[in-house]
Amino acid sequence: MTKSHRNVFRFILFTLLLGAMTLSPSYAGLLEDHYTPRPFEPTYLELNTRYQSQPTLETHESLVRLLIEYHRVDLLTPHLLESEQFNRGDHKILHAFAQGFSAASAGQYADAETFYESALSLLSDSQDISPRFTSDAKWRASFSLHAAVNQAYLQRYTKAIEDLAAIRDEAEENGWKTIKAKADYFLGSVSYEIKDYETALIHYQRALTNYPDNRVLLIAEAQMAEAQMLNIVGERAQAFEILQNAISTFNQYQDAVALAYAYLLKSYFFSKENNHEASLAWIYQSVQIREILGNDIDIANAYVHYASTLLENNKLEEARTYGLKAIRLAEQNQDLSGQWDAYVSHAITLAELGEYQSAYEYMFKGERTLLRKARLDITAETARLNSEFNLEQQQLRNRALDNENAMLEAQLLLKEQQQERQKWTMVGLSTLLVFVVCFIFLIYALYKKNQLLATRDALTGIHNRRSIMELANQSFAVSRRYDSELCVLMLDIDSFKSINDNYGHHVGDEVLKFVATTATKTLRDSDYIGRIGGEEFLIVLPNTSAQQGLNLARRLCKNIESQSLRSKLGVASVTVSIGLAPNSTQCKDFPELCNYADVALYSAKNSGRNRAEVYA
Ligand code: GH3
Ligand code: MG
Ligand code: MG
Repeated sequence: MTKSHRNVFRFILFTLLLGAMTLSPSYAGLLEDHYTPRPFEPTYLELNTRYQSQPTLETHESLVRLLIEYHRVDLLTPHLLESEQFNRGDHKILHAFAQGFSAASAGQYADAETFYESALSLLSDSQDISPRFTSDAKWRASFSLHAAVNQAYLQRYTKAIEDLAAIRDEAEENGWKTIKAKADYFLGSVSYEIKDYETALIHYQRALTNYPDNRVLLIAEAQMAEAQMLNIVGERAQAFEILQNAISTFNQYQDAVALAYAYLLKSYFFSKENNHEASLAWIYQSVQIREILGNDIDIANAYVHYASTLLENNKLEEARTYGLKAIRLAEQNQDLSGQWDAYVSHAITLAELGEYQSAYEYMFKGERTLLRKARLDITAETARLNSEFNLEQQQLRNRALDNENAMLEAQLLLKEQQQERQKWTMVGLSTLLVFVVCFIFLIYALYKKNQLLATRDALTGIHNRRSIMELANQSFAVSRRYDSELCVLMLDIDSFKSINDNYGHHVGDEVLKFVATTATKTLRDSDYIGRIGGEEFLIVLPNTSAQQGLNLARRLCKNIESQSLRSKLGVASVTVSIGLAPNSTQCKDFPELCNYADVALYSAKNSGRNRAEVYA
């Protein structure tokens, strides 16, 4: 491998590593309100002492926040284990978030995603959390920011950019300065990852102008990123100056993690200027800090860089030592990217040493690791796509079920409508039936009334001539058939003409009614009475002997005479004459019997009126 090839390779290695570092999340976005920058060591000492003497949720939380702000996963991990005791809603959320942060720092991005999601869902669901979480959308935005960056670690860049842009808009609307600037910072990092350095630079610079002045560490972090971009686009002098600014802030506040990274970057800048000695000196500083911080992945990475820089300075044996150290650590960590870096870098060193066989073997190992990583990535991606596919299928199934439900509901509605229609049809028919019945009843009543009218005398309400004649004929036939007795009375009002003449026609009518009523009252239920002419009445008495009939006729005369109408109408007197014919007489039909009664009536009239006479 030629020297220029080697340089290109080293450049790629550096950019990969630096890129991953830039994305490192920070908890500081959570601490926007009343934030005062503090140097790490004394603050940690103070908060830890306070927590040890008073292990409450509050003291613990302050400690965890500080450690996250300074990226101190090395100290955070043991505290997270302790904090299981604080099982309150508030803490569960922070705990899940801190676990996500910790997992992301260890390169376990899928785990980090799970933790972040659980923190976000706890934020929406938890019952026992205080209003500072529930009422504050800022917390959600802040957590979402980290979940979005994690999408970029998982190489879902489009999703990461979309989410970050949405959070940035929300922060802008609500005036959350730190969150807005941080969204820009992360957008810069994602742009950097996809090698769009110009866009990255724009985002970093936006972040820098938007951070509130008190967010010194975040500003320094953005400055460092800006410096990195400026160096890439060739503005080396400016890049160096800005990086120095950032380094002095990190030093002031004792941000060791950031400092280790800044020294690595500084070393890289020097190596680009071919100042290998300075490059070696600064990378050694970085290595030392990382050894103290104890994050194996970071240390292994630092060793790889250090070995390359040693190689650059022709310190071949030292390069071999650090190369092997890097390999050992990377293998312990199961960090495939780190292993690949370490193998390939070491292969280059060995090639330089002339140990081609071993160089080949390490190169081969590197390739195999890369393949393994690719296979794992593909498996993970396949699993993810699979679960997405399953989700989609489930959604489709749900939609199908929804449609089915809608159809069933529509059918049900139709049925209900049909039932309703049937109900109304029934109501209609019933009403019609009631009407028909009423109508029939009415017709029947009219018919009955008509029939009554047809058989009754309009003035007196007793049988009219036709009806009484019919009844008399029937009674006559029955009497003949059973040889039973029968009497017929012919009744005529005396001097009726003079009543009409003296009192008027209407008084005459009243007299007619009076006679009919009185006669009806005097008769038995089995007897019949009808008006056959002006003031003449025919009375039929079935099963009645001549003597019985005569008694009745006399009673009639008496009742009519005694019930004088004088008081009511002013009539002097009303009397009647009655002719009686019993059917014992051998007459051939009813008209003949009627004639006999007429004859008897004449005789009564002639005998002085107001009396009854029997046909002799
Ligand atoms: P007598 O005692 O001999 O029977 O004398 P009378 O006046 O009753 O006999 P007549 O037959 O001469 O008179 C019957 C009168 O009855 C003649 C007629 O104007 C009257 N008349 C007949 N039909 C009605 C009626 O419906 N209403 C009234 N107010 N008068 C009637
Ligand atoms: Mg008469
Ligand atoms: Mg008369």
